[in-house]
Amino acid sequence: MIPLCVPEVRGNEWKYIKECLDTNWVSSVGSFVDRFEQMVANYVGANYTVATVNGTAALHIALLVGGVEPNDEVLVSSLSFIAPANAIRYVGAWPVFVDAEPKYWQMDPEEAVDFLERGCRWSHGKLYNKGTGRRVKAIVPVHILGHPCDMDPILVVARKYDVVVIEDATESLGAKYLTKDRGPQTADGEDQSTVGGRRSSVVGHRSSVLSRWSAVGSLGDIACFSFNGNKIVTAGGGGMIVTNNEEWAIRARYLTTQAKDDPVEYIHKEIGYNYRLTNLQAAMGCGQMEKLDEYIACKRGIAQTYAAALGKVPGITCMAEASWASSTFWMYTILVDEAQYGMNSRSLLSRLGEDRIEARPLWQPLHLSPAHAGGRSAACPVAEKIWRDSLSLPSSVSLLAEEQECVIERLVGFRGDSGKARG
Ligand SMILES: *Cc1c(COP(=O)(O)O)cnc(C)c1O
Repeated sequence: MIPLCVPEVRGNEWKYIKECLDTNWVSSVGSFVDRFEQMVANYVGANYTVATVNGTAALHIALLVGGVEPNDEVLVSSLSFIAPANAIRYVGAWPVFVDAEPKYWQMDPEEAVDFLERGCRWSHGKLYNKGTGRRVKAIVPVHILGHPCDMDPILVVARKYDVVVIEDATESLGAKYLTKDRGPQTADGEDQSTVGGRRSSVVGHRSSVLSRWSAVGSLGDIACFSFNGNKIVTAGGGGMIVTNNEEWAIRARYLTTQAKDDPVEYIHKEIGYNYRLTNLQAAMGCGQMEKLDEYIACKRGIAQTYAAALGKVPGITCMAEASWASSTFWMYTILVDEAQYGMNSRSLLSRLGEDRIEARPLWQPLHLSPAHAGGRSAACPVAEKIWRDSLSLPSSVSLLAEEQECVIERLVGFRGDSGKARG
C-alpha cells in the first residue's frame, strides 16, 4: 500500500515527548508550547504567535480578533478544504466564494479585486456588498497545496477598503511569495495604480528592486497554520495564529484560554474558548519544526520527479509553480483530461486503488457545498473544472523512489486503457 500523505517522525519527537512525561508537564502550559510558538514565529518572520488545538480553531479566533461580526461577509477561496468557510459561519458571518485562477489553482486575485471594486459600495468608511447590503469585513485567501496565492493585488485592494486579510496558510507552511515592498511610500497611493489593474502591471512592479521573498503567513494582517497529521509537519493535531499586531495577539491568547480575566477568582468578562494546545503536542511540533526545511526539500524532489515523468503524458497536467512563488508541493496534484488521457480522474482513482496506490481528488468547491448553501458566489467554473479533473498523488516525505516509480509507471501505463474490461 502506497499512502497519500503520512507523517514522518525522524527527529527529536520521542526525546521531547519523553521530557514532557518525565517532568509531568503534559497539559496546556509548558515550555514546549512557548518553544513551538517561538519556532513558528521565527520561521515565518512574524512578531506574535498563539498556539491552538487545531487549524480550524485558529481560523475561528483569527476571524474574531479581526473584528468579523454576525452578518458580515467574508471572501474566501471556493477551491479549498471546508474549514475556513465553517469558521466564517462559527462567527455568524457569511462566506462569499471566489473562483480559482487556472494556472496555480489559487484564489483568483482579479476576481477578488473586481468584487471589492465593483461589487461593493464604500460608504462612511465601510464597505458593503451591493447585492446583499451586508458589510464586507475580511478576505481569507487559502494558500492551497503548498503554493501561495498571488497576494499583492489582494493586499492593495484590501488596504484601500479596510478589509482584513486573514491568510489560511494551513497547507503551505514554508512556502514563499515574491512580494513588493509595501513600505510607507507604497501604502499611501502609489499602489492604487494596480488596483483592479491588469496582472502585467503588478508583475512590472514585482520585478523592481523593491521585490523580496516573504513567507506565507507574514503577508496579511493575521494568518493561520495547521499541524494536523497530513500537513507537512504535524503535532498530532494543532494550529497556530500568527500576526504582527500585538493587540490582536493578546486578544487571541485571551480568547483561546476561556477569556480568563482573573486567574485566581475565575472571573471571565466574556465568552471564551478552550482552544489551547497541550505541551505534549507542542513537543511533537518542536521536533517536527526542526525538520521542516528537510521535508520541504523532500517534497520538492518528489514534485520534480513527478513533473519530469508525467509532464509530457498527454492528458496529464502537472502542478505548476509561479515565478513569484516558492511552493512546498505539500500534496502533489495532477489534472486528468478525459478526452486526451482516455480515462477520467475518478476512474484513474479507482484503478490506482486496485493497485493499492492511494490517491484523492481535491475538495468539492465550497460554492457547491450543501453545508454552505447560504453562502454567496459568482460562478466558479475554474474551481469546478479543477475539482472534476484533479487527483492528488502519494506525496509523503517518506515516499521511496521505487514507490514513486511504481505510481508513475501506472499513470503512464493506464493512458488509453479505459476500454479494457476490469474484473
Ligand atoms: C488542514 C486545513 C485546515 C485546518 O485543519 P485542522 O485539521 O483544523 O488543523 C484549514 N484550512 C485548510 C485549507 C486546511 O487544509
